[in-house]
Amino acid sequence: MKTLTCDVCKQNIQQPVMSRNYFHMAHRDICESCKDSLELQIKPVVRTKSPFDYQWYNKLIKDSIEKAVEKGKF
Ligand SMILES: [Zn+2]
Repeated sequence: MKTLTCDVCKQNIQQPVMSRNYFHMAHRDICESCKDSLELQIKPVVRTKSPFDYQWYNKLIKDSIEKAVEKGKF
């Protein structure tokens, strides 16, 4: 059985299926609950960004993830 570890919370993801119970973002593997936390964290920031810029968005995701990896949580 394949197991994967979330890069943020270090929890094992049993039978990982991409985009279902884990997500590959900014070269990191992220579990579902961490992805939910990430979305909650960036949603208010994204909402204020106008006009929307995809490159900016990608950078925001990447920076948020790297910060979370350091802290061990979002
Ligand atoms: Zn996680």
